[in-house]
Amino acid sequence: MELPFPERGGLWDVLIAGAGPAGSMAALELAQAGCEVLLIERSRFPRQKVCGCCLNLAGVSILGNARVDLPGLFPRLQGLDAVVIEVQGRSTSLRLPGGYAISRGLLDSVLAERASDVGAVFLDGTQGRLMSNRDGRCRVKLTSGGSEAIVEARVVLCADGLQGTFLKRFPEFEPIIASQSRLGLSTIIESDSVTQPGPGLIRMAVGRAGYVGRVRLEEGSLAIAAAVDSRALAGSSPCQVVRKILAEAAGLDVDLSQAKWQGTQPLTRSRPALGGRNLFILGDAAGYAEPFTGEGMAWSLIQGKRIAPLAREALEGWNPSLLKSWEEDYRRIIGRRRSACRLLSLTLRSPTFCRGVVAALSVAPNLLNPLLMGMNRADLKGMGAP
Ligand SMILES: Cc1cc2nc3c(=O)[nH]c(=O)nc-3n(C[C@H](O)[C@H](O)[C@H](O)COP(=O)(O)OP(=O)(O)OC[C@H]3O[C@@H](n4cnc5c(N)ncnc54)[C@H](O)[C@@H]3O)c2cc1C
Repeated sequence: MELPFPERGGLWDVLIAGAGPAGSMAALELAQAGCEVLLIERSRFPRQKVCGCCLNLAGVSILGNARVDLPGLFPRLQGLDAVVIEVQGRSTSLRLPGGYAISRGLLDSVLAERASDVGAVFLDGTQGRLMSNRDGRCRVKLTSGGSEAIVEARVVLCADGLQGTFLKRFPEFEPIIASQSRLGLSTIIESDSVTQPGPGLIRMAVGRAGYVGRVRLEEGSLAIAAAVDSRALAGSSPCQVVRKILAEAAGLDVDLSQAKWQGTQPLTRSRPALGGRNLFILGDAAGYAEPFTGEGMAWSLIQGKRIAPLAREALEGWNPSLLKSWEEDYRRIIGRRRSACRLLSLTLRSPTFCRGVVAALSVAPNLLNPLLMGMNRADLKGMGAP
C-alpha cells in the first residue's frame, strides 16, 4: 500500500490504532504538542458503531476544552436534560443535564478531522496489527484494500475498542470477560410519533432480557441501543428481543423489522495489563462495563487526554514506571466512575428491583442525584483546562 510521507522512512513518533474518541483525542493532544502522529482506523469514515449516541456533560466539557464546540458547530444537535426509566409500565425521570445526542458517524469524523487539522496523519480503511516490539521500535503491519505495508513507531497506543484486533498476536493481553456479560446492540431508524422520546430526553426501557435506550438524533432519526442477555438472543433476532423489552417495559409496539442492527461481543471485560514496553492500551480496549447513559465516550475522551503526557515521556526513553503511572491513573479516574456504573447496571438487571427503585424515586426524587452527578461531571484538573 502507498504510505503517506515516504520521506519519513515509515518511522513515526506515535502510532495510534483506532479513531474512536480515545484514539482521536490522544492524536489531537500529541499532534498539538508537536509529535509526529499516525492515526489508523479499520473502518472507512464516516462510520456508525454500536452506541446509544448520548454524550454526557463530562464528554461535552472535555471536547470544549479541546476546542471542539459541538453546539457551535452543529446548532441542530439535541441537548439532553434527563433520562426517563421505564419499567413494567411505570416510569420516572432522573435529571442528567448538559449532554447532547450525536450520531457516531458525525462525532468521530469531527474528532478525527480535528486531529488532522493539528498535524496528525489519519488513515481510515486501514487495519493495524502489532507485529513486534523490540529495541525501542514497535513494528506494525497495515492492511488496506488487500495491500500491506510495515511501519515503525517509537510509541504505540492501542485504542481499538471492544472488538479490536490490533493486539491479536499477543495472548498476554487477551481480555478477561466477566461471566454473564451482556451483549450490545444498536441501530438508527427513521423516527415516528410512537418511538419519539420527547425533547431533551433519553428513554430507557428495562425488561427481563435487558435494557433499551432511545434518543432523537441531529437529523430527527432515532438511535436505539441495548444491552441484552446472550441467552435471549440464542433463539431470537435482535429485533425480536428489543421489541419484547419495549413492549414489556413501556407498552410500546414498535415494528423494527426493517432496522439494520450492529452488535458487540460480551461487554464487561478487563485486561490483565494496560500495556507493555512502549505500548499503552486505552479506551474500551482497556476495559469496559455495561453502559448506563453516556459514560463510555466521556471515559474514552478522558483517557485520550491523560495518556498524552505519558506517551510524550515515553518518547524520551522507556521506563516501566510510565506503565505503572498509567495503570494507577486509569484506576483512579475510571475505576471509581465504573463502580457507579456497575451499581446502576445491576439495578437495571432486575425489573422487579428496578420497579422498586422507580417507586422509591417517586417519594424521594433526588435519591440517585449524587451518583448520577458524579458520573456526569468532568474533572478537568491536570488536563490543561483554562
Ligand atoms: C449498546 C451500547 C450503547 C452505548 N451507548 C453509549 C452512549 O449512549 N454514550 C456513551 O458515551 N457511550 C456509549 N457506549 C459506549 C461507547 O460506545 C464506547 O465507550 C466508546 O465508543 C469507546 O470509545 P473508544 O475510542 O475506546 O473505542 P471505539 O469508539 O470503539 O473506537 C475504536 C475504533 O478502533 C477501530 N479498530 C478496531 N480494530 C482496529 C485495528 N486493528 N486497526 C485499526 N483500527 C481498529 C474500530 O473500527 C473503531 O472505530 C455504548 C456502548 C454500547 C455497547
